[in-house]
Amino acid sequence: MHKHSIRELSNMLEQKKVSAVELATHCLERIEKYNPLLNAVVHYNKDNILAQARNADQKRSEMSEGLSPLAGIPILNKDIFCTVDQPTTCASKALKNYQSPFDASLISNFRQSGIVMLGKCNMDEFAMGGANEYSFYGPCRNPWNTDYVPGGSSGGSSSAVAARLAPAATGTDTGGSIRQPAAFCGITGIKPSYGVVSRYGMIAFASSLDQAGPMAVSAEDCAILLSTMAKFDPKNDMTSVKQPCYDYTSDLENPVKGLKIGLPKEYFSNMGNKDMRESIEQAIQEYKKLGVEFVEISLPDVEHCISAYYTIAPCEASSNLARFDGNVYGYRCDKAENIEQMYARSRSDSFGDEVKRRIIMGTYALSSGYSNDYYAKAQNIRNLIRHDFDEAWLEVDLIMAPTTPSTAFRLNALNNNPLKMYQQDVYTIPVNLAELPALSMPIGFSKGLPLGLQLIGPKWQEKRLLNCAHQYQKVTDWHLKVPQQFD
Ligand code: GLN
Repeated sequence: MHKHSIRELSNMLEQKKVSAVELATHCLERIEKYNPLLNAVVHYNKDNILAQARNADQKRSEMSEGLSPLAGIPILNKDIFCTVDQPTTCASKALKNYQSPFDASLISNFRQSGIVMLGKCNMDEFAMGGANEYSFYGPCRNPWNTDYVPGGSSGGSSSAVAARLAPAATGTDTGGSIRQPAAFCGITGIKPSYGVVSRYGMIAFASSLDQAGPMAVSAEDCAILLSTMAKFDPKNDMTSVKQPCYDYTSDLENPVKGLKIGLPKEYFSNMGNKDMRESIEQAIQEYKKLGVEFVEISLPDVEHCISAYYTIAPCEASSNLARFDGNVYGYRCDKAENIEQMYARSRSDSFGDEVKRRIIMGTYALSSGYSNDYYAKAQNIRNLIRHDFDEAWLEVDLIMAPTTPSTAFRLNALNNNPLKMYQQDVYTIPVNLAELPALSMPIGFSKGLPLGLQLIGPKWQEKRLLNCAHQYQKVTDWHLKVPQQFD
């Protein structure tokens, strides 16, 4: 059952070949068996899961019209989305055992569709990190080799999907946190344009960059899930933008003949990994067979992206995380003599080192007399990046690039070297700064670890991206490979 796509599972549910309870039970068994190896799922509750599944089965037996094809499909959620019936902790001691009084908007959409939410996935604390090692629950592991990281911050989601604990999971991407773990674990993930998925109930890291998206085996499954996640939500998220059509599967079968894809020379100039170069070359050849044209382009300002992002994101984080002061949410130190001490101790005791580092960096950069030198300057760079992409779209329909500079690295390889860790995000960050949609899909292996390819689109062109990835996945099978141990 765990080898089927969402579309296949949906048909099986429809034809009563399987029930939602059977599917949920199967996933639950896999979680129980494999999660101790991976630490990918951090909260799940059997009774809660089975109750949702029974509801879905009932919905299917009662409703003939207006039923979502996703009723009864099991998925996992990143532990950043608020849920009334499961804990929401952002993998932080600051939110240990926190139970939200409301559902995130996208969770409400899932409930309405009858999706069965199996539980919550491990992640880097408050989504800050690129290896899923900065977690209150301990590191998550990569199913292709458990000595390696799954990527981050949505590492639990990518690890779980790669090991087929669930057919799909949600993630968030502020600087690459859907695409990088998708690449490291050999799955497909899309970060939509900023504004497509409501941020309501998604715990904020850097509000001008945060965006949620689906992580699944294939582009088709991502398209199906995104059609439920994305919704105009003007009341709850003022940055939500109305889309002309929320069916992200509608263009999947379009031919890609005549499509023009740009290869930014800055992304390819110092690619160290030979297998990566060869796999991308092979993918290009596949696309050429489908009639796609390639041209070299330039994004001259991308070299400044890391500095801009690691200024903007910590600034916004320092402001967003001010609310975790022990008063209203989560952890509160019980040995304080006055309120200031209570704030200070609650925050000092409950945030991990990386979160503290970001808060300190952000607070410094925003402090009086400095914000023009740092935050404002970073915003100027952001405008330059947007402009670079705007120029590119005059020439090409999509851009192709590696998702990451290398394959997954070993656990503990970079966790004491923040600068090296930040540099891993060099290919993913420009997209967030420019608010664009981008997708990562598997295109091969290097030393047994998956390689990811990134496709970047103009704003609101998620369908073009999904179409282009789907056409590739129809003629290749990299996305169908499962790590032996979890087969
Ligand atoms: N690795 C990046 C960071 O640490 C991206 C995180 C994200 O996208 N949530 O900020």
